[in-house]
Amino acid sequence: MDKTAPGRLETVRAFINTADIETGTDKFATAAGLERWLARPHLIPGPPAPPECDGKELETAIALREALRALCLANNGLVPDLDARTALDAASANLHLHLTARFGADGLISLEPDETGIRQALAEILTIVFAALHDGTWSRLKACAAETCQFAFYDQSKNRSGHWCTMAECGNRAKVRSYRARQAPVTATG
Ligand SMILES: [Zn+2]
Repeated sequence: MDKTAPGRLETVRAFINTADIETGTDKFATAAGLERWLARPHLIPGPPAPPECDGKELETAIALREALRALCLANNGLVPDLDARTALDAASANLHLHLTARFGADGLISLEPDETGIRQALAEILTIVFAALHDGTWSRLKACAAETCQFAFYDQSKNRSGHWCTMAECGNRAKVRSYRARQAPVTATG
């Protein structure tokens, strides 16, 4: 099943998946890596000037990403929603981002970043999350239930019951583990 998120929410999914928990690789391991990723044209509109970031922005970008992952774990029922929201609150408070509310002809409010460079890109991520919270797509963005994976995926299932990024890999692995756990007491007693 397709795991990509609709519209701009796919950018947020890609943002969360810049860290590969399974292999321990992180595209944001260096400031240059973060700059490269954020220079994607849909995040910072205008002439492609590579944004420059300092250590603090790198730290905040990672904090924001991990707060979003926590929210996606909460969407999968794996961590308390309140804890995840507190983490996102802390990350966005740390950023001090300026966002402007725009009132559309359709009667809907949208937020637009009032920032430049790296800060604009990070604010853009937050505005996409804000929009997704309002249009109801956010709750389908989940982080894989396999602790060693936590890959962000969009749950397309009718009843929103998806737990794993892939049933073939993470889903089956989890089933084998819980099967073994159930069998363990039996083998222990002979
Ligand atoms: Zn997975």
